[in-house]
Amino acid sequence: MKLFPFQNTYVNLPEHFYERVEPAKVPAPSLIRFNEDLAGLLGLDRSTASDEEIAAQLGGNVIPEGSEPLAQAYGGHQFGGWVPRLGDGRAILLGEVVGTDGVRRDIQLKGSGRTPFSRGGDGKSPLGPVLREYLVSEAMFALGVPTTRSLAAVATGEPVYREEKLPGAVLTRVASSHLRIGTFQYFLAQEDHEAIRILADFAIERHYPGCGSEGNPYTAFLGQVIERQAALVAQWMSLGFIHGVMNTDNMTISGETIDFGPCAFMDEFHPEKVFSSIDRNGRYAWGNQPAIAHWNLTRLAEALLPLFDEDREKAIGMAEERLGEFEEQFKEAFYGRFRAKLGWRDKKEKSGEFVDSTLEFLSGGKVDFTRFFRELTRVAAGEPEGGLIALSKDGVASAKWLQSWRDSGEPDVDLMQSSNPILIPRNHRIEQAIVAANGGDASLFHRLADAYRTPFEIGSDLADLEQAPDPEEVVCATFCGT
Ligand code: AMP
Ligand code: MG
Repeated sequence: MKLFPFQNTYVNLPEHFYERVEPAKVPAPSLIRFNEDLAGLLGLDRSTASDEEIAAQLGGNVIPEGSEPLAQAYGGHQFGGWVPRLGDGRAILLGEVVGTDGVRRDIQLKGSGRTPFSRGGDGKSPLGPVLREYLVSEAMFALGVPTTRSLAAVATGEPVYREEKLPGAVLTRVASSHLRIGTFQYFLAQEDHEAIRILADFAIERHYPGCGSEGNPYTAFLGQVIERQAALVAQWMSLGFIHGVMNTDNMTISGETIDFGPCAFMDEFHPEKVFSSIDRNGRYAWGNQPAIAHWNLTRLAEALLPLFDEDREKAIGMAEERLGEFEEQFKEAFYGRFRAKLGWRDKKEKSGEFVDSTLEFLSGGKVDFTRFFRELTRVAAGEPEGGLIALSKDGVASAKWLQSWRDSGEPDVDLMQSSNPILIPRNHRIEQAIVAANGGDASLFHRLADAYRTPFEIGSDLADLEQAPDPEEVVCATFCGT
């Protein structure tokens, strides 16, 4: 019954990097969904385990053979406020698996009970956030965005108490690692420079092996993380995605999207859109995400300073040089993504300004972001323009915008089709799937999980999933729900 060919390296790091802890036992684990594609990529031999055995292992009742379960230590800035000790309070790393693609990935249970980092929490997760993370992380992957993934959702048969009594569940999260900016900050706060070096070497070996041979591996490492995060945030924004809780403990060193708590894909576009119920000042609004990423990366640079140079002034100069590259990298990536959405393969004169004015037009007309680019793709392919014009509250502005787009040259339809998804995991659909599943019916969850695997393809029976929400369906706020 050996499902996972575990090879664990994190456990060989110094003892104060983690706490050994076992998942909590649950009364009645049952498999809601198992991601066969991902299992294939991980090289798991599915024939070695029945659904019951998988549920026992991924629900917490049986520790998989070869696992050395642990909770990782980290700190972080939450909404700008420093918290020296966060850590995996409701997550347990089972171990690492090297996939058929040669990539080493963490296998982690989320919602599997208390750990030494749980503080006042119960370490559990209601079913809703598990299904939400499953749907959104797998949709992100299918959209081509670097992200942690979901291997399984297991119902525990145990109630979880929040404002109300809810069914409990455990998610199996797969990530190229769970190293966060907050992991580095944790050791900086303790002035443990030796630990920072060990952690940086570990991160370089795992994610950026090329940095090892650079003149200064650590500044090269910072530069790589900055580059990946600049590209990531630009890609999120090109899909109308708002992460919602970009705390430094929720920003990975690998450049993967992590922690799908109160995130959301926008329906109507507005640059100041916020969904998270706890983001009262709009810190993590759609348009603030690059500035926040830069702020977070500055915290990473601070933690790495002792490794850059013994001379602090010199080290700061080196950090500033790297951090200074973020803005240009972000802009390149952002405008490049939007040019592709508009059908332009190459930079045109003033194409950046055109993108800016397009976004202004979209927010002014309260236009549905995803539908707009989908309808534009249709128009580019020679279909009638009525659908596009009707999306805006201001038909005159719409017609004017369309004319200016037409005047700017021949669009590349293939590029538009591969840049403008037809399906995104819309809030209202996720909400409906969760409500139904809480009532015992997981069919909508499965339908969505199947549909979101091919977001750029036209599905014959998926027209309802393409649509923006009706006014009574609109979801205005999202919750961590943990
Ligand atoms: P997050 O909002 O997911 O980024 O979590 C922030 C911190 O709160 C992390 O240290 C989590 O482990 C911890 N946390 C969140 N929910 C729970 C819970 N139900 N029990 C224990 N710790 C939790
Ligand atoms: Mg987190």
